Amino acid sequence: MIQTDINALITAIGGREALQTLLGVGPSAISNYLAKGCLPKRAHPLVCQALQTRGYQLDPHSLQIVGLPPTPKSAQHHADTHITGKSVLMIVGGGIAAYKALEVSRRLQDHGITVTGVMTNSAQQFITPLSLSALTGQKTYTDLFSLTDEAEMGHIRLAREADLVLVVPATANLMARTAHGMADDLATCILLATNAPILFAPAMNPAMWNNSATRRNLAVLRGQGIGMIGPVSGDTACGEEGDGRMSEPADIVAATLASLSKTINTNNNLSGRRAIVTSGPTHEPIDAVRFIANRSSGQQGHAIAAALAARGAEVTLVTGPVSIADPQNVTVVHIETAAQMLAACKAALPADIAICAAAVADWRVDHPVQGKIKKQPESPKSKSGSGPPALRLIENPDILATLSSHRNRPQLVIGFAAETDDLQSNAATKRQRKGCDWIVANHVAIDDPANNVFGNSHNKASLFNQDGHEDWPLMPKTDLAETLIDKIATEFGANLVNA
Ligand code: C5P
Repeated sequence: MIQTDINALITAIGGREALQTLLGVGPSAISNYLAKGCLPKRAHPLVCQALQTRGYQLDPHSLQIVGLPPTPKSAQHHADTHITGKSVLMIVGGGIAAYKALEVSRRLQDHGITVTGVMTNSAQQFITPLSLSALTGQKTYTDLFSLTDEAEMGHIRLAREADLVLVVPATANLMARTAHGMADDLATCILLATNAPILFAPAMNPAMWNNSATRRNLAVLRGQGIGMIGPVSGDTACGEEGDGRMSEPADIVAATLASLSKTINTNNNLSGRRAIVTSGPTHEPIDAVRFIANRSSGQQGHAIAAALAARGAEVTLVTGPVSIADPQNVTVVHIETAAQMLAACKAALPADIAICAAAVADWRVDHPVQGKIKKQPESPKSKSGSGPPALRLIENPDILATLSSHRNRPQLVIGFAAETDDLQSNAATKRQRKGCDWIVANHVAIDDPANNVFGNSHNKASLFNQDGHEDWPLMPKTDLAETLIDKIATEFGANLVNA
């Protein structure tokens, strides 16, 4: 058991109550953790993420604080100066947590942010447009077909003029409608039309949150680059306990400020850069109906493409067959085989950045059969001697290695590696063998669900480059994409601008 200085964590997080809220536990649980000197394993990613958002550096294994935030007061002042005058369009969904949106709007205004409210019909069952207008000092919009609103400010303009769109609370229904691209009310029209970053603060009954339909919608929304704030675990209004409780207003405000300052400071720092991203599996045909494939979901590659586009890069995403949606503002090339993926990548050159996140099949069938191979009626032991067909496999082209040695080689070429053991030496060897600049190595343990990256929305990785490696904590794939793009932006700013 690894001992942790829980008191230091409590202070950094903002007190016992803040830790209770973050973990969704009661006061006695915190006393238990203090007595034992360690936190339960499930709390580690939450604590890491919360403290990293506040600027602390942590050792992810021991949870020891190894670096403090840079002079918080002046940093806050600096951030606020940048954030003042920004506008947030706050969409209020129809759930009991709607009343907390009022508090969120107040606290955002404390930072000099203008908040304009949009309410769904069901939100108006919980709070009134008048309350929201009274608190924001702005007109609250509710109606898609209001002639007055359209004359004053059409829904497209509302969507375009915001620096950020925040959905508080994001109900299961609103998530589903957004995931399916519906535009049947003002809120969904805005979500479809906006170019601004979108943040959802989901709130619902735990069973609804855990329902496979909501999980699918969540994956689609994340794939589109929509950020999620919470939900957290704890009591919900319906009396049930579990995941689904909306994050506290202070945490929603903190996440919004963090996103706004990121947008302001770095939104365009990759503008003018061209990037190629590969994602998903490849399908290698055996005959007209059968193929060789793998379990890659494409979530990580798609999140990277979305994050690059959000920073202003011109992105071509070359993806194998996946069930998630295309990210916004990205040119998407859908392919099936490794050969097609390679051709599409070459066609997208020249580029400044190539990120190969696809799980390309290592082999393909030498001569796929044109029609469907017929199953032989007799058993393999029959006199005819015919049995299952023998497949001759040949090697697929290595797209990462090809791009790394191409005459039009992108300035920065990044590969991924899934490793079960000996991560450090395998990743370093792979970096050299493929000739790429960086390797993002996933810690994969197929029999440990927490570390199985395939189809999972979280990922734990280490970045290997010319200087060595750094380990990243377990985090959502969308956050890993942001972390990687931060590194890329720094690299371009620091080293490659004049290359
Ligand atoms: O060799 P391995 O599959 O472990 O290498 C993983 C890295 O190489 C990933 O970045 C993957 O996208 C890339 N790769 C590729 N073409 C292949 C095989 C792997 O681009 N044929």
